Amino acid sequence: MIQKYPSAILENAVNEFAKLPGIGRKTALRLVLHTLKRTPEEVENLGRAIITLRNEINYCKICHNICDDEICHICGDLSRDTSLVCVVENIKEVMAIENTGQFHGLYHVLGGIISPMDGIGPGDLQIESLIERVDKESVKEIILALSTTMEGDTTNFYIFRKLSGREVKISVIARGIAVGDEIEYADEITLGRSIVNRVDFNDTLKL
Ligand SMILES: [Zn+2]
Repeated sequence: MIQKYPSAILENAVNEFAKLPGIGRKTALRLVLHTLKRTPEEVENLGRAIITLRNEINYCKICHNICDDEICHICGDLSRDTSLVCVVENIKEVMAIENTGQFHGLYHVLGGIISPMDGIGPGDLQIESLIERVDKESVKEIILALSTTMEGDTTNFYIFRKLSGREVKISVIARGIAVGDEIEYADEITLGRSIVNRVDFNDTLKL
């Protein structure tokens, strides 16, 4: 059904809100009408927050986590165990794992997983920089904490093969705990446990 809007300005705003994930045109209209009820100052703050986010956010030069400076607070924390690197898809997983309080190593944010269906290949992800880190830094163990989906498995195996022949242990978080691509929704205790109880990646290949 084509909706008629009484104003092109209103329609334009609805169009923009409706581009956000999970926001249909009905919800977009509700958000737009809500925006109109807020003070000009509040709306300006919202607009500025979005523009600043897009223009000024940085990605950590080491782990690709989102940060305000060149290096994120985790990589910059001298008390962390630099011999352990946990590989995750996105910053959401970094936040989820940090919340468990069970992991004291560093991270490596891939920026997604290998997904031929979505046209995402290894070259679109931060995999080369992970190999470089293993070669240049004193990394003893890589912990793969990706989705337990076919794409996650493919990515795990790709990284495993890329790292073969190097003196680094490769482990994977315990399975059956973080299901699907929902690592960030797993509760903190089970997610923490899945990291503590991680298994050697070689053993998963024998199954
Ligand atoms: Zn970092």
